[in-house]
Amino acid sequence: MTSRTSSVIAVAMSGVFSLRNVSHLECIKCGRRYAARPDRYTCDACGDAGILDVIYDYDYISRRVSREALEDNRDYSIWRYTPFLPVEEESPRRPLRVGWSPLYRAEALGRALQLDNLYVKDDGLNPTGSLKDRASAIAVLKAMEAGADTVACSSTGNAASSLAGNAAAVGLKSVIFVPERAPEGKVAQLLIFGATVISVEGSYQDAFRLSAQAIEKWGWYNRNAAINPYLVEGKKTVSLEICEQLGWEVPDWVVFSVGDGCTIAGGWKGFLDLYRTGLIDRLPKMVGVQAEGCCPISRAFHTGRPLEPMEEDTIADSIAVGVPRNPDKALRAVRDSGGTMVNVSDEEILAAMRLLGATTGVFGEPAGAAALAGLRKLVADGPIDRRDTVVVCVTGNGLKDIANAIRASGELIRVPPDLEYVERALRRRPRSRG
Ligand SMILES: *Cc1c(COP(=O)(O)O)cnc(C)c1O
Ligand SMILES: [Zn+2]
Repeated sequence: MTSRTSSVIAVAMSGVFSLRNVSHLECIKCGRRYAARPDRYTCDACGDAGILDVIYDYDYISRRVSREALEDNRDYSIWRYTPFLPVEEESPRRPLRVGWSPLYRAEALGRALQLDNLYVKDDGLNPTGSLKDRASAIAVLKAMEAGADTVACSSTGNAASSLAGNAAAVGLKSVIFVPERAPEGKVAQLLIFGATVISVEGSYQDAFRLSAQAIEKWGWYNRNAAINPYLVEGKKTVSLEICEQLGWEVPDWVVFSVGDGCTIAGGWKGFLDLYRTGLIDRLPKMVGVQAEGCCPISRAFHTGRPLEPMEEDTIADSIAVGVPRNPDKALRAVRDSGGTMVNVSDEEILAAMRLLGATTGVFGEPAGAAALAGLRKLVADGPIDRRDTVVVCVTGNGLKDIANAIRASGELIRVPPDLEYVERALRRRPRSRG
C-alpha cells in the first residue's frame, strides 16, 4: 500500500470513528498507542498478551458529567454514563435495558457476617441474568460501528447468553462457542435467542482457541472480553452505579468473583474514572474471589510468581477459567487498590448461595455467590473491619443453574394431602435456618 492511499484511509477512518471522549488505546505491556477503532483488539507488537486499555480525555468528560446532571437523568441504564463509554454518542440502537441493577442494604446478611454496612449489588437482574450484559451491550454497538453483521465469542456460558440476547435485540447474528460442561439453563438461553451454538468437546480454553480461529477465518466481530478492549469499559458501569446509588459515598471494599479477570478490572476502571473526573475523592479496595479448584490468578497474586494454568475443577462454571485471558488487568486492579484475593471451596460457595438467598431474597448462581463466600472468609480471618462499608456483587442469577441450586438447598417437606401430616412435619422442623 502506498503512503498516499493509507493517508486517505486514515482520514476516512477518523471521520467515521470520532470518539470525542477517548484519547487512544494503550498496550498494558509495552505502552504502544493505537487509534480507537472499533476493530482494534490487541497490540501488534505483544500479540494476545498485549491487552489494550482505553485512555480517556478526562477534561472532556468532566465538562459533560456532574452529580447534578446525573440526578436529573431519567435514563436508568448503563447509557446514563455515555460520556464515560467508548461509543459514538449518536450510536442509535440501545433496545435492552442493561444496568442500573439494585443495590440493597443487607442488614440481616450483615448481622450474619458481623458487618454493620454491607450492601448487595444484584447484577443477576440484568436482561439475560448476569453482569456480562454490561459488556455485551457495548459489544453489539461496536460491532455495528465496525459494520459487522455477525458477532462471535467463546464463553463459559454467561458471556455467550448475554451476547446472543443483546445481538438478537439489535438484529445481529451471533455464533457462540461453549465448553461442553456449560449448564443447560445458559445453553437454553442461547438457543432461544437464536444463536448458532457450537458446543466444543473440551475445556473453556479449547472453546476459546477454536473461536479465535473461526473469528479469524470468517471475520466476525470478536466479543472475547479480554481481547476486546471496549468490553471492560461496559463492565465498569457497575462501579459508577455503586457510587451513585450510595449517594457518592465510596465503599471501603468491593468484592467480585474472578474468572478471566475482566469483571474486577472493569470494576476498578469505573472507580478510577470517577476519581479522575473528580466525582469521588478516594478509591475502594478491590477483593477478588476464585474457586479453590481453579485459582490461577489468586495464586499468582499470593506467590508473586508468573501465572500458571490450572485445571477447571469447580461447580462455579462462570469462574472456572484455567487459562485466564486478562490476569494482568485483574492483578493490577487488586494490587493498585491495596486489596486482596481469596479462594473458596465448592462447599463454601453452596453455603453462601443458601445464606444469600435466605437473608436477602437474592438468588445467585455459584459464581455469583462465590464473592459472598470469599467475603465471609475475609471477615473471619482478616483485614475487613466490622464498621467498613462493603459492597458484594452478585454477578449472575441462580435460575441459570438449577442443578447446583438444588444441591445447595435444604430438604423439601413431602406429605400426603392431609393437614395432620403438615402439622407433624412443622413441629419437627427447626425454627430457623442459618
Ligand atoms: C464472567 C463471570 C464472572 C467473572 O468475570 P471475569 O471477567 O471472567 O473475571 C463472575 N461471575 C459471573 C456470574 C460471570 O458470568
Ligand atoms: Zn504492546
